[in-house]
Amino acid sequence: MKKMLFVYNPNSGKAQINEYLSKILQIFSAADYEITVYPTKAQMDGHEKIKMSDGKYDIIVCSGGDGTLNETVSAVMEHKISKPFIGYIPSGTTNDFARSLGISGDMIAAAKDIVDGEVMGCDIGRFNGRYYNYVAAFGAFTEVSYATPQEFKNLLGHQAYVIEGLKSIPFIKPTHMMVEANGEVVEGDFLFGMITNTMSVGGFKNIAGKNVKLDDGLFECTFIKTFEAASDFNKLINAILYKEGKNPNIFHVKTDKIKVHADKAVPWVLDGEFGGEPQDVQIDILSNAVNIIVPRKYYDMQVKN
Ligand SMILES: [Mg+2]
Repeated sequence: MKKMLFVYNPNSGKAQINEYLSKILQIFSAADYEITVYPTKAQMDGHEKIKMSDGKYDIIVCSGGDGTLNETVSAVMEHKISKPFIGYIPSGTTNDFARSLGISGDMIAAAKDIVDGEVMGCDIGRFNGRYYNYVAAFGAFTEVSYATPQEFKNLLGHQAYVIEGLKSIPFIKPTHMMVEANGEVVEGDFLFGMITNTMSVGGFKNIAGKNVKLDDGLFECTFIKTFEAASDFNKLINAILYKEGKNPNIFHVKTDKIKVHADKAVPWVLDGEFGGEPQDVQIDILSNAVNIIVPRKYYDMQVKN
């Protein structure tokens, strides 16, 4: 029998896991898994549980929002004896990463896909030594991200949430920074930056760039410099969301390593959680660092591309 650790956040999203738990466990049981179930009690509790389970399980399935997945992946990254597969049943609202992996928002469908799915090697970002799955950012969205209570995010929905983030751009004080990637150094006063491994951010599909792959060892970076005229703001929004034309205020790059030096401390957000206020940031990409189970249909699509 294959051994599974099932870690879930009972309060995530609208707590819908409580409605589906028995059905989900039946799906895993029918697929011959011996299941250990662990409802988390607090933040980082799931991380600790998974970290201590090194070598004990073939697969770790987590259910919750971005935070739960981040805790799971970070904990598996610390496993020394064996690296279990990771399955994910999303329950939060802004599950950009799950969407990028083709994972269903329907909990029962997501559980079935874990049983029938394929293993995909997925890249992981390391931000000053701390692991993240799909987005590290400062400025715009970030202020909205941790200033906005979860209930309000649920109410707003993805798009409204991103619009709020973009609307905040003119009010953000720029920070003088040096950004170094692929041997290129860009210096200026920046309002916003993000280093992502995802097809969508805040529900917007094109925002991270085109030809995004989660297992190519590269993350997409977008940095926005300060700008003056309000008319520029419209161009900027078009350039960010739809990649229309070249905008001198925007720096796009794909890379496996990036360094940011700021003149002052800057708050960052990692996968939607507060990531500290470092002046110096080094991000490197760990290629195919974890094995995530994705729906077979999605896997076939990736292989064909
Ligand atoms: Mg990539």
